[in-house]
Amino acid sequence: MHRHNPSSKAVSSNDAVAEAARILRHGGMVAFPTETVYGLGADAFNEIAVARIFEAKQRPRFDPLIVHIADADQLTRVVARVPILATALIESFWPGPLTLILPKSATVPDLVTAGLPSVAVRMPCHPMARELIRLTGTPLAAPSANSFGQTSSTNADHVRQSLGDKVDYILDGGPAAVGIESTIISLLTSPPAILRLGGLALETIEAVTGPISRPQPGVLPVISAPGMLPRHYAPHTPLRLESILTPPRDPACRAGALAFCRAPATTRFVAVEVLSPTSDLREAAANLFGAIHRLDRLSLDFIIAERVPDEGLGLAINDRLARAAAPCFQ
Ligand code: AMP
Ligand code: MG
Repeated sequence: MHRHNPSSKAVSSNDAVAEAARILRHGGMVAFPTETVYGLGADAFNEIAVARIFEAKQRPRFDPLIVHIADADQLTRVVARVPILATALIESFWPGPLTLILPKSATVPDLVTAGLPSVAVRMPCHPMARELIRLTGTPLAAPSANSFGQTSSTNADHVRQSLGDKVDYILDGGPAAVGIESTIISLLTSPPAILRLGGLALETIEAVTGPISRPQPGVLPVISAPGMLPRHYAPHTPLRLESILTPPRDPACRAGALAFCRAPATTRFVAVEVLSPTSDLREAAANLFGAIHRLDRLSLDFIIAERVPDEGLGLAINDRLARAAAPCFQ
């Protein structure tokens, strides 16, 4: 199996995609760019290749994977049927950061769906991802390209640092434009249900579907998405989520600030990341994981993160920050 990435710029991205597709066809594992975060992909119909993803990420087997497709034909290979509402969502939002839970086709391996009778499907819009899936000629099962529970990768460097040579090939498609994972909607119920907030705002989806059911506050939903685990997306440095950034009282404590639109007035933070100087929630989402990775590399005692406005993509950003801040044992 190839373990080397093209290091020279002489290798065109076409050649790189062709090489990655060849590796996938032979049962390999390739990290690839999407508009949400980088994915760690394998042929969705090759159970051994899919098993290697779980090993590389140390991901529990109860956590099903999203199947990434390039066209409508591949959709018919992985789902048993497409309800009318799903068709409306597909027409409105695919390709893009929306994952649909649909009844699975019998040919999708149980390992991919963790034994569930349903499958998660998404058509990414990153051109390199589409071309990779098309050239491979098969849907790709792909979770985020990072060790389980840790901060997602939004560029090829993050993948190298998190998974290194556990991956057969890393395809570099630049920084992820959306920057947080896809929104997951289940079409198994009526009305449809949201399983994970993400890169497509809920109100945008509801404009097409009407009201979507969401978990009651305070009632723990059945965990059917890893992003639903109380602790997820976590950096190594302890992270606290606050409404107003306040530095720690102890002067010996080295803290970094993750601010929404303005650096805090105090000089008590040893490092500051501002997610969007213009208060743009899309820009903040795109910068979120990169900023957390940078702060995480500074050997700080704490990262103190500021809550962003609870609207649009802000809901998904606050969701990620809250889970990154959750205590290890809950
Ligand atoms: P990630 O590891 O970030 O790619 O997340 C994939 C997400 O899709 C996880 O939250 C999975 O639990 C979720 N998922 C995949 N398949 C299903 C399914 N059949 N039903 C519900 N959630 C699913
Ligand atoms: Mg993940």
